[in-house]
Amino acid sequence: MVDNNTDHNNADHNTPDTPDNHRHLETYVHDTLTSLKHSSPAQTEFYQAAEEVLECLRPLFKRCPHYLEHNIIERIVEPERQIMFRICWADDNGKAQVNKGYRVQFNSALGPYKGGLRFHPSVTSGTIKFLGFEQIFKNALTGLPLGGGKGGSNFDPKGKSDAEIMRFCQAYMTELYRHIGPTQDVPAGDIGVGAREVGYLYGQYKRITGRYEGILTGKGLEWGGSIGRKEATGYGAVYFAQNMLKARRETIEGKTCLVSGAGNVAIYTIEKLLELGAKPITCSDSGGTLHDPEGIDLALLKDIKEVKRTSLEDYLTARPDARYITAADYPGEEGHAVWHIKADIAFPCATQNELTAVDAEALLKNGVDCVSEGANMPSTADAINRFLDAGIAYGPGKAANAGGVATSQLEMAQNNSMEQWPLEKVDDKLKAIMADIHEQCAETAAEFDEPTNLVLGANIAGFRRVADAMIDHGIV
Ligand code: GLU
Repeated sequence: MVDNNTDHNNADHNTPDTPDNHRHLETYVHDTLTSLKHSSPAQTEFYQAAEEVLECLRPLFKRCPHYLEHNIIERIVEPERQIMFRICWADDNGKAQVNKGYRVQFNSALGPYKGGLRFHPSVTSGTIKFLGFEQIFKNALTGLPLGGGKGGSNFDPKGKSDAEIMRFCQAYMTELYRHIGPTQDVPAGDIGVGAREVGYLYGQYKRITGRYEGILTGKGLEWGGSIGRKEATGYGAVYFAQNMLKARRETIEGKTCLVSGAGNVAIYTIEKLLELGAKPITCSDSGGTLHDPEGIDLALLKDIKEVKRTSLEDYLTARPDARYITAADYPGEEGHAVWHIKADIAFPCATQNELTAVDAEALLKNGVDCVSEGANMPSTADAINRFLDAGIAYGPGKAANAGGVATSQLEMAQNNSMEQWPLEKVDDKLKAIMADIHEQCAETAAEFDEPTNLVLGANIAGFRRVADAMIDHGIV
């Protein structure tokens, strides 16, 4: 029986530890995953994300079984709404092209659905669902009024002309516009969606609706964007690492860092590391890993990836002493070259499951004792276990990369008040939010007797906020 008068913030520890509760606890992860696999087949990344969260929640449910009694698990793993649509657009030869479009509106207990759009050929409904699920807890950790959502398409921006990108974005928004709104659902960028794409998407929304409003974040600075949003995910991942290091009485200055990826997150992780006197020596793209032992030349990297949009290999023209390690040079079976280079700290900023158990072992062997994730779920479950067993400072993506979406909320706040804040104000808020996320994760981890396990801390702290709001809202 559900006691509707229960004050869920205080009464939890008094709930009886009955044999029934125990039995339920023993089987609920297994039963929930089995039923997910049955009702949503072939969504492996989503099961992986769900399993991690559910496993971490066991100790919470032991102390607070009322979450189970309210059936929060069954409710939280099911998106409130999933939109799938066809996107037809004309390529430069006038030929019709077709892609799949998605928007998963996962959970709105804490605020309007919020989360980026990913355009990448690997995108499936399972990818968007895992990203949307992660986003619920990440957004909750920011402490801001944000629900969780995610969208995207299997469209491949690589090799497309600017005009093709524009027509694709217009076709995507022609369907999406009816589902979004400043208090309803506010998409942003993710892999394959940066300032250029957000611009085309925004232009089309405005053309269709005639409304100039904050329906996207990551907008251009002249038309509603926030100063500091572009940099926020990367800067935030570095701030999170600083917080983890501070707790261990260490600093980031002078540390050699591995960064993967060469998109927005990687570039601004590298920028902040350089500013703080650390030495980022790698980044990577789909073709290989760039290793510059002298430290990455940021201006050169930006020119290649933000202006010319070409391969990282071009870096070697200006810096012949650097190396570009391709798959042919590195036939490491389940590993990725970037994680096998000697360093002190690792920032996975590319994509999901880019860091395997083999890579985790190589990092630990090489003395890495801090990992801060700029990407979403970049480490496999086995890799995470290696980090936790070794007791290193490990910041999971849903905590360490939350600076991006947090700054998106700052952009929404500026849009609502028709203001534009200076960089200092945005950056100070970002720093405070990242420190607060770290504190919440660490305190929650300590509360559950695993003080160094920030995965447990992040999942429980994020879940509690969402679940409590869901209970307050009743069965809806
Ligand atoms: N795509 C980013 C993320 O994974 C940003 C989302 C947003 O700003 O809404 O959190």
